[in-house]
Amino acid sequence: MNTLRFPFDSIPEFGTVLPVAPGVYWLRMPLPLALNHINLYLLEDDDGWVIVDTGMGGEDIQRYWQQIFDGELSIDTVNRVIVTHMHPDHVGQSGWLCEKFAAPLFMTRAEFYAARVMYGIPEGLSWTTEQYMRRNASSEQRIEAARDSKFRMSHMVEPIPMAYNRMRAGDVIQIGGRDWEVMVGEGHSPEHACLYCAETGVLLSGDQIIASITSNVSVMPMEPEANPLADWLRTLKEFLVLPEDTLVLPSHNRPFFGLHERIDQLVTHHEDHMLALEQACVSAKTLPELLPVIFKRTLDDSQLGMAQGECIAHLHLLMDRGLLQRELREDGIYWYQTMDADLPGKSLSDSYRGDDAPQMV
Ligand SMILES: [Zn+2]
Repeated sequence: MNTLRFPFDSIPEFGTVLPVAPGVYWLRMPLPLALNHINLYLLEDDDGWVIVDTGMGGEDIQRYWQQIFDGELSIDTVNRVIVTHMHPDHVGQSGWLCEKFAAPLFMTRAEFYAARVMYGIPEGLSWTTEQYMRRNASSEQRIEAARDSKFRMSHMVEPIPMAYNRMRAGDVIQIGGRDWEVMVGEGHSPEHACLYCAETGVLLSGDQIIASITSNVSVMPMEPEANPLADWLRTLKEFLVLPEDTLVLPSHNRPFFGLHERIDQLVTHHEDHMLALEQACVSAKTLPELLPVIFKRTLDDSQLGMAQGECIAHLHLLMDRGLLQRELREDGIYWYQTMDADLPGKSLSDSYRGDDAPQMV
């Protein structure tokens, strides 16, 4: 059963805004992905505006921002730039916006420092990343491609501001006479901020809760033994304390009602993925053999890293639950095998079909 409701028929064109709640305007910026947009929000403050998330780096996005500043809201004062998390579509224009308006940046501590690290990583292949790739049975060709790659994360963002104001879970920020409480989700990124206004019943959910896609939850080479799916599921359930009639304003796709239903769907989605992997691991498997269990489409090179990271995240939570064992064999590759005595009695939910491909956000 899917009872999500989408209250807005129209979607804002790039460079325009749409009012969606008292003092809240919705806008979109393009993304160069299959998922072709990010949602950003403008909050009306007493004597200016607060920007929530900023779009990818690049001049195209800056032109759309300028259209918005010159448009119906005629924005000439920005009091704060709030960034939910460190991914490039969210933090990308923070440096440009903070500079332009001499506005302070607001982020959680882990997100700010993660951003400063991520966008400073040099090109080339570290031995730790190479080890991660080899243990997960990446092809020689992919390892060589990674070694030769000139790609750097810093190409996706404007320079990150040199200073920030720390937000933490439970903080209350006053914007336009209303209280917005900071809620933190983990697993998609280290300390992802969401903002909840009880007075108007609005949740700015970022990438934590999105209607029709599941955010990427990945084990990355920088922390190869991480267990981000445990963090993700634990913090996701904390949002169940909010009322069911909360208007959820996410970073992708459309605003919706049906918060509790959506959280249930997300939990079920990941539990099903884990069970499908367990079933596949009745005989020992390597990572490349497990990707088709949860991703039904043939993956291209651009999707493979995210797919691997996401698959490993599910395997690590199974290991943490004592349901799966991992063995580093003489071939230098991890092999996974189920050790769940109750497996025969478990079944996937009726709705389970796996995913087409990993989400790139
Ligand atoms: Zn994200």
